[in-house]
Amino acid sequence: MAELSEDFSVLNDMITEAQQYGAQATFGKPSLDADSLSNIITTLASSLTASKTEMTNMKTGAAKMLRMDVEREKINTPDHIGSWKEFQSDGGDDNSYVRRVWSWSWREGNRFVKIVDTRCAYCYTEDTNRIECPTCKAHFICGGCYGQDIGLKDHKARYNNRQSHCQNNLSQIRMGHLRLKELPSFSIAVKDQHFNEGAERIVFKVRYLDQNGNYTGPIMVAKESRFVGKCKCMGCSKHIVSSRF
Ligand SMILES: [Zn+2]
Ligand SMILES: [Zn+2]
Repeated sequence: MAELSEDFSVLNDMITEAQQYGAQATFGKPSLDADSLSNIITTLASSLTASKTEMTNMKTGAAKMLRMDVEREKINTPDHIGSWKEFQSDGGDDNSYVRRVWSWSWREGNRFVKIVDTRCAYCYTEDTNRIECPTCKAHFICGGCYGQDIGLKDHKARYNNRQSHCQNNLSQIRMGHLRLKELPSFSIAVKDQHFNEGAERIVFKVRYLDQNGNYTGPIMVAKESRFVGKCKCMGCSKHIVSSRF
């Protein structure tokens, strides 16, 4: 509390800086009476309650643990500032690669459908001169691997009376679980610093990469949980929960 004529610019700068990183920050300038002070404290208390509710598990009432392994970037930070993790279609230097792509489908009853992988099924090369399986049209092989006589033989073959990969693809397509959709590429980059945060999730920037490593295609986001917890896939600790484009 202070006289109205006081200079609050330093305090105000602190608030602005905190807000630039998405933190909750408010500046109250009470005049010298109890009423205005009480108003400010009420506002502060309700915003604290909102944060506390977000951090409580609705079923158990237990406090959820916030992840501390994430770094937030300042609002409006351009793409070239900060660091990106690349996932190359063929694994790249550290063998982080895009395993498969799913798309959310309203048409199929609000669920994920698998997108046909147009990379070579053997070496994951993105080859424009690839050879397509003429039967299922959902299996591809690059010129190099085709030349080595792998061909499409084991794709069409049946083992122990099981469906062949080809038959499996055909029935997946028929049931609407597999769909062909043109993607800019099978390499992506995810920015290490997240740029936004909701009550449940933190949001990262995602871009497709072309063959020269340049950004291509639509600007996307990836969402991850804000809380420490087990991922529903194979129990990994870090996993992209969903992406939208
Ligand atoms: Zn290949
Ligand atoms: Zn096939």
